[in-house]
Amino acid sequence: MISIEEALGHIAGHVRPLASVRLPLDRALGHVLAEEIASDVDSPPHDKSIVDGYAMRSVDFRPGETRLDVIEEIVAGSVPRCSVTAGAAARIMTGAPLPDGADAVVMVEQTEHLDTAGSSLGQVFIRAERVNARQNIMRRASSMRQGETILRPGHVLRPMEIGLLAEVGRQAVTVVRQPTVAVLATGNELVPSDQTPTAGQIRNSNGAMLLACVRRAGGEPIDLGIARDDGAALASRMEEGLQSDVLLVSGGVSAGVLDLVPSVLAELGVRQVFHKVAVKPGKPLWFGTLTANGSTRYVFGLPGNPVSSLVCFELFVRPGLAALSGQPFRPRPVFAAKLAGDFDQRGDRVTYHPATLREEADGQVVEPLSWKGSGDLCALAASRILVRFPAGTRRFAAGSLVDVLPFD
Ligand code: AMP
Ligand code: MG
Repeated sequence: MISIEEALGHIAGHVRPLASVRLPLDRALGHVLAEEIASDVDSPPHDKSIVDGYAMRSVDFRPGETRLDVIEEIVAGSVPRCSVTAGAAARIMTGAPLPDGADAVVMVEQTEHLDTAGSSLGQVFIRAERVNARQNIMRRASSMRQGETILRPGHVLRPMEIGLLAEVGRQAVTVVRQPTVAVLATGNELVPSDQTPTAGQIRNSNGAMLLACVRRAGGEPIDLGIARDDGAALASRMEEGLQSDVLLVSGGVSAGVLDLVPSVLAELGVRQVFHKVAVKPGKPLWFGTLTANGSTRYVFGLPGNPVSSLVCFELFVRPGLAALSGQPFRPRPVFAAKLAGDFDQRGDRVTYHPATLREEADGQVVEPLSWKGSGDLCALAASRILVRFPAGTRRFAAGSLVDVLPFD
């Protein structure tokens, strides 16, 4: 049995970013960029007003007595026709180009419009206490300059990066491919979730859960359904699963007489990297790789109990999928929170316990949920985080700081 850190070290040592692909922008969210992006425009393309107001010359300002002739109205999308000269101002809308001559914009809330006979646009009285040169103006190219590199390989594409790519006219981008992940549930007791279990049977909850985990982690899930605990059945389904970048097998990796997954994987040529990790739940975790024709497949054998499966996914599979997708290998982040009450930890392994988390005046407070063991998905559904206790037997007093691992 190896430690969590050793197991993570092994996974980190094996996973390599997948090759890059070109994707249309509307499918690129969450991917890691694999090319350098340069801007094809200045942004903004002109000096622009960042408020609705009046463009004027700051030298014309006299506190309490500035009254200017309005010479033009400039809306976003139009081009100014006049220059602002001494004693004049232009009504200007947010985003519109600043007219020549003007060096400041006063927001409309600090002005008063005056109708004047004989002039269609009237006059404006400036109520502001001061007007500084350059106020409320965004200079041309102050955000980015044409030709400038704005994103580099390795950058994760979030909605703001997608917006930025659209701003520079990109319809498609080169990104690291995200892994295809096949999910196979094993167990003679399992029936598909659309069936009613009979004596001795349970529904396959892990299948749907792991497919959802994969989807949320950015992978492309492939449902392989259920395989019987039978060498031939397992071999053919797992062989199918080895077409994907990653194969997740749930169940069949413990020490029961029908836990055949490791031996069948070995027959298929998958090389075991480790089996069994000192973590609770999740001890039977199995990890191996198969390299053929220059490409590597990664196989995780997850314990069948749903909570164990999920904890193993969060701790080990998720960082692995992120690294295949081009991100640096990073264990899931943890942060510290205070225990709501005393907690008695016993056991020889680091333990992850489903818990709730609430905000209190002096920080975040964590409350472990009562749970009935690794088959208890209800407790997991009621939890917001996992709280981590070190191995050993010890009482953690109310108020002590513990590490918690968020699910998202
Ligand atoms: P195993 O790891 O195969 O020994 O399974 C451990 C426990 O998890 C047993 O009680 C199984 O019935 C249960 N289990 C295994 N696979 C699943 C699954 N896909 N969905 C729900 N429970 C499962
Ligand atoms: Mg089983």
